[in-house]
Amino acid sequence: MYLRLTDEQRMVQKAIRKFVEKELVPLENDVLRNEREGKPGLAPEKLKELQFKAKEAGFWGINTPEEYGGANLGHVMQAIVLMEVAKTLVPFQFGGSADNILYYANEEQKKKYLIPTINGEKKSCFAMTEPGAGSDTRNIKMTAVKDGDEWVLNGEKTFITGGNDADFVMVIAITDKERHQTTNGREGVTCFIVDREMGWRSEPIHTMGPATPASLIFENVRVPEENILGELHYGYKLGLEWIGYARWVVGARAVGAAERLLQMAIDYAKERVTFGKPIAERQAIQWMIADSAVEIEAAKWLVLNAAFTLDQGEDNRHLASMAKLFGANMGNRVVDRVMQIHGGMGYTKEMPIERWYREARLWRIYDGTDEIQRLIIARNLIKGHVKLGQFL
Ligand SMILES: Cc1cc2nc3c(=O)[nH]c(=O)nc-3n(C[C@H](O)[C@H](O)[C@H](O)COP(=O)(O)OP(=O)(O)OC[C@H]3O[C@@H](n4cnc5c(N)ncnc54)[C@H](O)[C@@H]3O)c2cc1C
Repeated sequence: MYLRLTDEQRMVQKAIRKFVEKELVPLENDVLRNEREGKPGLAPEKLKELQFKAKEAGFWGINTPEEYGGANLGHVMQAIVLMEVAKTLVPFQFGGSADNILYYANEEQKKKYLIPTINGEKKSCFAMTEPGAGSDTRNIKMTAVKDGDEWVLNGEKTFITGGNDADFVMVIAITDKERHQTTNGREGVTCFIVDREMGWRSEPIHTMGPATPASLIFENVRVPEENILGELHYGYKLGLEWIGYARWVVGARAVGAAERLLQMAIDYAKERVTFGKPIAERQAIQWMIADSAVEIEAAKWLVLNAAFTLDQGEDNRHLASMAKLFGANMGNRVVDRVMQIHGGMGYTKEMPIERWYREARLWRIYDGTDEIQRLIIARNLIKGHVKLGQFL
């Protein structure tokens, strides 16, 4: 066991850090202003420009297979990159990647959807949640009924990230009601790739944070048979795989943001003088700094372990749930302490802390709430799917 980054990982971390500090951090005030004016933090053209700049520096498709022009650096490297990028509030992600489940596409679908998504020509979104089915994903109601060579989709999806801008959606619908019931929702549902032009529409949902997900409305949307992603009636597995991937990623984001925030608090505490001394000399402040540092470190190891386990080709779902649960809650505790250390200034819109405070609250809700992660972790242990100490 070697608990340090390799030379290559260290080099990538350093290069990404430089990119974030040079290209992204200077845009933070623009992002805050744009968001205050109700615009996207980063205009789509600006995002593309930055992605191409990163491409020139060799950062493109960090975890995308080489046959699709990616660097295929693996999940640990992906985690390292995500943690660095999360040190800025600028909503940037490197180009050259696609949703994990889009790789289940057949050759024709790959040409039409996967490759254009990797190349940044098409935008995707994934839709499982419905107004009556969030945590309880097996309770979805959207139906797809076969009519000749087509499937006719009816229903509503909600809270779909990227749903306002996506060119196509990977949507989960019931294709066999009886099988859906008898298998308790595990079978009888299928994932369809549906172009916006096929007829679904989106409506934005405004939230307390920077995220603006969408409701997607399907009214007799006709989808050709060849647009089934993966196997007919086995789409639920794909849904779980998409959500599972997103989980440890949330943990990674929380670690990056918390590290940046804690550094801000340390710097501020050394400068802010009250009653004749910098507040950094007060035990009350030191304990907030110490608790935050310990929790960040712990969350980082959980995230890296989840990513490492995936790189070994092992099932990482238990660890991903742990990384998400602890990471998301750690992020919320740290941003709260950092705001406290900044006093009144922390609460103002002149500093980015309140923006992170609003964003962090989402981490405990989407991609499976705190309660659902606890339920999964406890169930795995009680039913013996995972043994204590199994991984380390
Ligand atoms: C900004 C945002 C982006 C999102 N992006 C996507 C996306 O791209 N695609 C997608 O498909 N979905 C997306 N979602 C949906 C998200 O995954 C769900 O909101 C989440 O899973 C919770 O579902 P719910 O909102 O229906 O809450 P509910 O399931 O109704 O839960 C309500 C409360 O009850 C608790 N609860 C539920 N069941 C149990 C139980 N068995 N035991 C104990 N407590 C329980 C929950 O933890 C929660 O506290 C997004 C949501 C948001 C807010």
